[in-house]
Amino acid sequence: MHEQIQTLVNGYNSGFALSPRSLERLGGVHKGLAAIVRRAILLSAVDFTVLEGRRTSARQKLLVEQGASNTMNSRHLSGHAVDLGAWIGGAVRWDWPLYEKINHAMQLAAAEAGVHVEWGGDWKSFRDGPHFQLPWADYPLLRQAQDEEVWGVEAQDEVWGEEVQDEDVRNGEAQDLENQNDRVV
Ligand SMILES: [Zn+2]
Repeated sequence: MHEQIQTLVNGYNSGFALSPRSLERLGGVHKGLAAIVRRAILLSAVDFTVLEGRRTSARQKLLVEQGASNTMNSRHLSGHAVDLGAWIGGAVRWDWPLYEKINHAMQLAAAEAGVHVEWGGDWKSFRDGPHFQLPWADYPLLRQAQDEEVWGVEAQDEVWGEEVQDEDVRNGEAQDLENQNDRVV
């Protein structure tokens, strides 16, 4: 399987590159997932930008209050999720087919790395096209990833260093773990 994929993608290069801002947003993301995103940009049929990686609990609270998210157990809190936006003509586009293509590149990159990446677009209750995460089953950590597991963590300290450690993240560990596939954003 991996050899077949390798043959398919060998020598292919999309010509797209992650912007400095996208790379900065990968700071604090689990290094395995960050590596997959950095590989996927080279395989993707459409350009994309990193909209968000690791998220503070304060921001997550705000998103829940606004109805944009329904969970305080988001994988963004621990650096196990990223949101990618299709980048066309200097702006983010939300057309669904673009996200199918981004997912295709992400799945190729994940397969190369031998890692399973879950796409929010496959969720049934709340399809979330920009969202990609490492599965709870493979990465059960609910609190933040350890420093040695995240990519570019030093550069991001001032952005999220303190807040992700606060009580809400720890409280998340005690919450119900059922319906993990329904966790969104
Ligand atoms: Zn997300």
